[in-house]
Amino acid sequence: MNFFDIQVNGYAGIDFNQDNLSRVDLLHACGRLRRDGTAKVLATIITDHADSMARRIETLARLKTDNSLTDEVIAGIHIEGPFISDREGFRGAHPADAIRPADVGLMRELLTAGRGHIRLVTLAPEQDPSGATIRFLRDQGVAVSAGHTDASLEELRGAIRHGLSLFTHLGNACPASLPRHDNIIQRALFLRDQLILCFIADGVHIPTFVLKNYLDLAGLERSIVTTDAMAAAGLGPGRYKLGRWDIEVGPDRAARAPGGSHLVGSAASLPYVSQKLTEELGLSESQVQALCRDNPQRALLIP
Ligand SMILES: [Zn+2]
Repeated sequence: MNFFDIQVNGYAGIDFNQDNLSRVDLLHACGRLRRDGTAKVLATIITDHADSMARRIETLARLKTDNSLTDEVIAGIHIEGPFISDREGFRGAHPADAIRPADVGLMRELLTAGRGHIRLVTLAPEQDPSGATIRFLRDQGVAVSAGHTDASLEELRGAIRHGLSLFTHLGNACPASLPRHDNIIQRALFLRDQLILCFIADGVHIPTFVLKNYLDLAGLERSIVTTDAMAAAGLGPGRYKLGRWDIEVGPDRAARAPGGSHLVGSAASLPYVSQKLTEELGLSESQVQALCRDNPQRALLIP
């Protein structure tokens, strides 16, 4: 199956967000992704100061087209941030000092750095109250997803009117404890007819029984599964030092801070996730194909 993962921060020891990403690094990550069964990814660049983000995006866009393997495996770039919620629990691992309100000028700079390869932007609708950045992105043919957000129903509805069409890793990037009724998960589920909902389906970020509830409600035709994999993905269990992180990967493919105190990302791959979907949720091959290939392609208008 031609798995397509729309949220991959790194693979096989290579962090796509590192400064000085080299041609050899990207070739290595793409070769390993393909060898392990993932055909295409959106390389994901997360919140940092604007000049750092622009530089990393520019490097990725340049290296992508450098040869046919990287050009095929990196189907595009997903920018996650910096226009997300700065509130504890919602911002997750994104650095608070680089989060900011949406700004069309900066968005334009990041798109220019991406040379036409930006396919998806995750932002918090409450950081773009006028909807100007969402409209700008849609005018440029870039899909927009809500994530790291505590937007109200009204803010979500407004963003949908401006062109918001997806929701990033629903069930994560929110505090561990939420108001029991009016919370971001319930609001997004309520708007499931208008949003494609994306889930990290490694069995750790969302327990499998909860994922089943979400998929039953949203419908397989309107859901996408991703890994949100970081550089430890594809390396197997062990202890790693990646960038500024010390990481312990367990047999469950989750990446945790040493001692297991908290999740710092996923070390899963879509082929691994699809096996779990088949074995634990009993999904058929065509259902897995919808979640892991067809829906992502359709949502991003990638042929
Ligand atoms: Zn995230």
